[in-house]
Amino acid sequence: MLDILKQIARVGIVAGRRQAEAAPGDAAADPELRAVGRAPCMRHVDAGSCNGCELEIHALGNVYYNIEASGMKFVASPRHADLLLVSGPVSRHMREALLRTHDATPAPKRVVAVGDCAIDGGIFDAGYASCGGVADVIAVDATASGCPPAPEAIIAAIERALES
Ligand code: SF4
Repeated sequence: MLDILKQIARVGIVAGRRQAEAAPGDAAADPELRAVGRAPCMRHVDAGSCNGCELEIHALGNVYYNIEASGMKFVASPRHADLLLVSGPVSRHMREALLRTHDATPAPKRVVAVGDCAIDGGIFDAGYASCGGVADVIAVDATASGCPPAPEAIIAAIERALES
């Protein structure tokens, strides 16, 4: 119990800290939040990843990054989306689904390739089961490199995509 109390005293309250560093709507205070301030609706497509990138994408919604408090949100349908977050190499059996999802997203639409696999196929590369990176199937506006990329890198890539 004492160890837990020491930990709390040392770390403090993490939840909301990032939001407190830049007040919601104060885009100029935090460049990473400029995109969030524009409140894009996003659809995530796992085109064949190992799920490592998904963990980092999911972290965007936790109490630390708390992106929904700033307006950005995930939507269930590409028809409601401004932007697609695509992770993983594009597996052969997900190629058609990715193309249809991209077609269903209304213009102007943006695409962010999340993770090294989405950028160029990563450790999976192209082969009998993989088409390679997302750009080999649909146009990509920005990339978040890393295996997996940190949530900050994903947010920065979203910002670049919206500015493209
Ligand atoms: S970039 Fe890394 S974490 Fe993301 S899908 Fe590829 S192997 Fe998995």
